[in-house]
Amino acid sequence: METSVPAEMLETAESFYGQHGPQGTPLAELAAQGLEIPPAALVLRHWHGQQGRVRPFLPTATDLAAPPVPVRVYRGMWIVDCPTCRGAQVAASGDHRLLCVDCFNADIGGRWRRVTWPADAPAIERVLLARPDPDTRNWTGEPVAQLQAENAERGLPPQVGV
Ligand SMILES: [Zn+2]
Repeated sequence: METSVPAEMLETAESFYGQHGPQGTPLAELAAQGLEIPPAALVLRHWHGQQGRVRPFLPTATDLAAPPVPVRVYRGMWIVDCPTCRGAQVAASGDHRLLCVDCFNADIGGRWRRVTWPADAPAIERVLLARPDPDTRNWTGEPVAQLQAENAERGLPPQVGV
C-alpha cells in the first residue's frame, strides 16, 4: 500500500513561532547558548521574550491537579484556550503544556497546565487539509467520520493522501 505525506500541515507553535517572529535569534543558536526554549514556550518567546531571556521565568513544575485543557483547530491552527482568562494561543504538538501568555497561569501558581491532544490528530489533520480554504479548517472534538461527511457535502475528498 502506498502512503503519501501531505505537503502541508496545520500550524502548531513549532511551525508558527519556531521559524519566524520578531525575536529573531534562531532556536538552534539559543540552544547552543544553553537557552533552549521548550516548544510550549515558543508563544511566550514571541510575545514576551527578549531573545533567550524568556527561559529563566518559565515554570519548573506542572500542576497535575489542574484539569488538562483540550486543543482544538481554529482556521488551520492547533490552538488551546486558557480556561482562566479565555485567551487562546497556538498549541505545541511536541510539548503538551500550556503557559498562558496573558495570565501566566496565575490561578495555579504560575505552573504549567497540561494540554490534551486527540489520539487521532494525524487523521483529523488529513481530513481538514483536504479543505482548500484554511478558514474552514476547524475542529472542536467532532469524530473524524463527521469531518469527512462535511467534506463530502462540499464536494471535497474525504482526506488528503488518498
Ligand atoms: Zn490565561
